[in-house]
Amino acid sequence: KTAYDIEYGLVGSEMFIRDRAHLGDLRNRKVKHMAEDTRTSGSEHAVYLALGSNVGDRKRHLQCALRALEKKGARIVLKSDLYSSKPYGYEDQGDFYNMAVGVLTSLPPFSLLQTLKEVERECGRNPTFRWGPREIDIDIIFFGNLVLSDVELTVPHPDFRERDFVLRPLMDIGRMIVDPLTEKTVEELYGLLTTDTCVNLGSLVAEEGVSD
Ligand code: ADP
Ligand code: MG
Repeated sequence: KTAYDIEYGLVGSEMFIRDRAHLGDLRNRKVKHMAEDTRTSGSEHAVYLALGSNVGDRKRHLQCALRALEKKGARIVLKSDLYSSKPYGYEDQGDFYNMAVGVLTSLPPFSLLQTLKEVERECGRNPTFRWGPREIDIDIIFFGNLVLSDVELTVPHPDFRERDFVLRPLMDIGRMIVDPLTEKTVEELYGLLTTDTCVNLGSLVAEEGVSD
């Protein structure tokens, strides 16, 4: 038995093999557990992303990211309202604008992560530090029901359960989503938060004449 077989002990081996074939770039990665097929229809995966910006023209950075995601194969099917939130971790920085989107994509997890990094660069991200100010940040919150921890990618996102600025926007588009790790819904996790600094700013409208 390979390590995978053991880690997948609770999941039918057929499902596992099928999933691994579809999540191509997971080969040779240490995948902890996969509860179900992450695909929705055909070869597309349902993925939830959290976006944030607290430097420069924050709306524009978010709009740029949404457009770039569509161009690179992440079809946006659900979009939360726009929220402002207080910075987290390192507090001496400007307020954030945050939102969440549900996308359908046939990109496997690590390819999607690379794509998100490209989109961040294209939409003006300059290198800073963890929790520091950023033009644009895009995190993978859920990738279907995939549970994986790797040095480069942890899914579900390791900190989202404590973050008002992720859970509040997610409430708009997926309050019934079940976190595959804790098996709590987004709504339940949101209810467990002790603070919520988010202010609803309505929907982010694509502005005329905005160019990248
Ligand atoms: P932050 O943790 O503040 O979002 P970065 O955006 O610079 O910082 O991300 C640091 C690294 O986190 C990325 O290079 C990426 O490899 C890793 N990472 C791990 N899990 C995830 C995830 N679920 N979504 C996005 N990035 C992730
Ligand atoms: Mg990030």
